[in-house]
Amino acid sequence: MIIVLKPRVTDTEIQAVLDATTALRLTAHLSKGVERTVIGILGVSDDKEQVMAHLSQLDPVESVVPISRSYKLVSREASKEPTIVRLANGVEFGGNVLAIAAGPCSVESREQVMQTAESVAANGANILRGGAFKPRTSPYAFQGMKEEGLKLLREAADRFGLAVVSEVLDVRDVELVASYADLLQIGARNMQNFSLLREIGGLHKPVLLKRGLTATVEEWLMAAEYIVASGNHEVVLCERGIRSFDPMTRNVLDLAVVPLVRELTHLPIVVDPSHSTGLRHLVTPMALAGVAAGADGLLIEVHPNPAVALSDGPQSLTLPLFESLMKRLAPIATAVGRSLPQSISAVETSTSHA
Ligand code: PEP
Ligand code: MN
Repeated sequence: MIIVLKPRVTDTEIQAVLDATTALRLTAHLSKGVERTVIGILGVSDDKEQVMAHLSQLDPVESVVPISRSYKLVSREASKEPTIVRLANGVEFGGNVLAIAAGPCSVESREQVMQTAESVAANGANILRGGAFKPRTSPYAFQGMKEEGLKLLREAADRFGLAVVSEVLDVRDVELVASYADLLQIGARNMQNFSLLREIGGLHKPVLLKRGLTATVEEWLMAAEYIVASGNHEVVLCERGIRSFDPMTRNVLDLAVVPLVRELTHLPIVVDPSHSTGLRHLVTPMALAGVAAGADGLLIEVHPNPAVALSDGPQSLTLPLFESLMKRLAPIATAVGRSLPQSISAVETSTSHA
């Protein structure tokens, strides 16, 4: 079960509830978030009803909810309301407006990032993606521009009114990446790096948690549980395809997971049509399908000249292809009750030279 505390409870009130659980010989796990504090309770056996009734009466307690799933805090049972994850600049995951993250696989140069940011912003993206620390299969492949890359991303995003998402590979770089990015990406290869999950769980910074290469839905949600249980409730899931026997596509996009995850958890979910297909000509159809299936947003690789990209060129959209994807996405978004972010030209007109 979980104990949901009232908004803005004090530390003394939290301690009073923890003391009550100790008196009942229960194991309590405190997850203190910015807006919401919850206590996960383990070890309740026969007298469940009685324990729930007792805890519900405590003054700081809003509700006591029985949870049957192994992932507790992120389960749908824990919150009927969907979680809306908000980035610093107001971009939301889980609201009516879709979150569209677009940009290169890797940050490669100032020109590449500026050109991409300008174009994707003008065509309705609201987040700039770009890897500065790259998880490459070969140790000899390009590993990313590191802090220099993060600086370029931030500068480009600020210039064109975008938020920044970038991957953090290592516990030692969490602080650095968090100081530039609005959304910390945990890559597929790190989905079960539990020390990294705990570390970012200690931050007040939204997280994009990609599904592991061969992760079951339950393992993925348990990974999210690590982050939330450590106190960071701002988690967005990202379906990026799973391994199969067939080398025809890079991965298999598991689209059914979008409506499925919505039943299982209150966390928002986005689709990455780039890594899930590995092939440029499949990216647009799968992006459209992702939104049609109910995704809260997309994460798409876009490069001004994919032929010379230092990573993932074959799956990167060109700038004109991203523009046409966004045009085709508009009626689909409308059909499922969503809208696209305002394009930068509209933003510029409305805030005209303050
Ligand atoms: C990426 O988004 O650049 C990336 C490396 O993705 P994944 O972790 O899904 O492979
Ligand atoms: Mn990539």
